[in-house]
Amino acid sequence: MSSFAPIIPSASLERADGMCCPAPGQVAFAGSGPGDPDLLTLKVLKAMQAADVILFDRLVSPEIMALAAPGIALEDVGKEGFGPSMSQEEICARLVAHARAGRKVLRLKSGDPTVFGRLDEELSACDSAGIGYQILPGITAASAAVAAIGQSLTQRGRNSSVRFLTGHDMRGFADHDWAALARPGEVAAIYMGKKSARFVQGRLIMHGADRATPVTIVEHASRANQRVLETTLDRLPADLAAAGLSGPALTFLGLAPRQSLAALPDLASDLTSDLNMELA
Ligand code: SAH
Repeated sequence: MSSFAPIIPSASLERADGMCCPAPGQVAFAGSGPGDPDLLTLKVLKAMQAADVILFDRLVSPEIMALAAPGIALEDVGKEGFGPSMSQEEICARLVAHARAGRKVLRLKSGDPTVFGRLDEELSACDSAGIGYQILPGITAASAAVAAIGQSLTQRGRNSSVRFLTGHDMRGFADHDWAALARPGEVAAIYMGKKSARFVQGRLIMHGADRATPVTIVEHASRANQRVLETTLDRLPADLAAAGLSGPALTFLGLAPRQSLAALPDLASDLTSDLNMELA
């Protein structure tokens, strides 16, 4: 007898046949990546072509939604930060209703579904209803944004850990271990960080952070309209207000764009478009 016992029943993780796609009456929770359709995984693409219904979030790009097979029902359950939104209960109720009706349900979230994706509420709803599910990972915004500035999230001798933070949570601006974050060399990827920029700046400086600490904001990472704002902790709120970023943006604490890229801001996108032309 094997000494390995599965901790989680395999039925809730993968279909027995190893296929990518939700089985009838089940839900696949998938990540669409940061927006560039080329950063969608093949597994999620296959699920987008095999599902009966796709419930998608606001930040899933239109180019990606265009890859859903014709005839699949598309439900926009997008949630706007601080704005009007479909309640989490309503989203959970819809997932369960579709699955109970025997449909192959794809729940598509931006980036990776396990990063600030309110995934657990929806998994619990499936658990309570006895509905099977699987999770299909995606590329999270921090990975796309750090690639855009030619840096790495960790670097030997600089930071051996990296934190993913949210700027706000359900109670307002989110609290963190500011003393740890204020130390030299720390790197953090701040999701939903625009509105909380002044709060974060204040907390870090209060805990002794150097005002000259580099801060970089990447808006629309991986998309054609991607923009990079290079600033410092000191100038963060003012530069952010002046830049007037209106799209999804990832804030890096402790990272500046690599100098060679900053000098040639269009190099990376030129290379990508050359490659795309060659592939076309
Ligand atoms: N699950 C997602 C995060 C959802 S929270 C992921 O793994 O990426 C939403 C926040 O993600 C946005 O407010 C923004 O901070 C960040 N984000 C999502 N897409 C982005 C993009 N293309 N560029 C920059 N930031 C992005």
